[in-house]
Amino acid sequence: MPWPTGTVTSAEKAAQRKPAGWAKARAAAKAAVAAADCVRNVLRELRGMGGFTPVCLRKASGKCVSATRVDTPRRGSYRGVMNALQASLVELIRRTSAEIPDDVNRALIASLEREKKGTIAESALKIIERNIELAKRKSQPICQDTGSVIFYVDCPVGFDQIACEEAARAAVKEATAKGFLRQNSVDSLTGKNDGTNLGPGAPTVHFHQHRSPETAVRLILKGGGCENVGAQYSLPNEKLHANRDLDGCRRAILDAVLQAQGKGCGPGILGVCIGGDRATGYEFSKQQFLRMLDDRNPHPDLDALEQEILKTANDLGIGPMGFGGRTTLLGVKICAANRVPASFFVSVSYMCWAYRRQGVTLDAEGRIHSWLY
Ligand code: SF4
Repeated sequence: MPWPTGTVTSAEKAAQRKPAGWAKARAAAKAAVAAADCVRNVLRELRGMGGFTPVCLRKASGKCVSATRVDTPRRGSYRGVMNALQASLVELIRRTSAEIPDDVNRALIASLEREKKGTIAESALKIIERNIELAKRKSQPICQDTGSVIFYVDCPVGFDQIACEEAARAAVKEATAKGFLRQNSVDSLTGKNDGTNLGPGAPTVHFHQHRSPETAVRLILKGGGCENVGAQYSLPNEKLHANRDLDGCRRAILDAVLQAQGKGCGPGILGVCIGGDRATGYEFSKQQFLRMLDDRNPHPDLDALEQEILKTANDLGIGPMGFGGRTTLLGVKICAANRVPASFFVSVSYMCWAYRRQGVTLDAEGRIHSWLY
């Protein structure tokens, strides 16, 4: 091999020259950019032409019709991004399963301080506190009940939802194999457990598109015991003297608390939706669990209702695990959804003390950028 001289040889100049037909291909590519309705199609065409690196000419020309797709470029390979996304989701699952979020921990500690010393309620909360500390230290599930694995993904327009759902399923399988999730999902007809926590509806992934370039993934592991004590009321309800108004809602929600006593692994947290249809009512009520436990409802009437139900429920004396005491609920979160005049549903979802909820924002390569709780 000749020693480098610092001068460019004619052979090197020839290698640097654009391939034959390059100018024609570039003009054709520009025309494709102008005509295409999707940046991805453009990139595909550019790749097919070869001879130069695919770039987004629409972005460069300011004519981008799919801004988010362009503004969130994937610098790594597709496979690399998917691997990183899966790894991020496995870590999200691990942390959700093993660590109670800080806002919930603070509420549990405050309730422990409120309970009378030497009572069963105090002992129950101390056991819960030890359980939480042990799970975090050993990075093991807080509870043997894996619960329903529910992802909530906020994503930009153009985000590949199919790929994300595939990554979520692969992450659940991997997290289960690693022991972050107990094998806890069974076929509803046969009762068979294939040990993967995968199946129809397992996990559940809810997507919500927004105009922001940010991608955020939140995860809730919703225990089965507390799911069993969720309830839906159709107002008016004669037995509860509950009419179609806020007082009627209050009566229905407090009835749900009474029905749940001794079940559902309290102290609990209520997520409530007033209105909607039966399905969206429950769906919206569960979404309330994504709120911070110590936030305040921006709607004054709902805020007042939340505070009133929290106080009344804790005055009932049901206490942790139904053993009696001052802490029946750690929080109440209520939203309202439009309804048709013929219906008035109050949907109540109940979360147990093992309030496993976490979330992350992701960077363009699928890696964790920040933690949300
Ligand atoms: S309801 Fe909650 S605390 Fe009770 S077993 Fe299920 S996940 Fe665990």
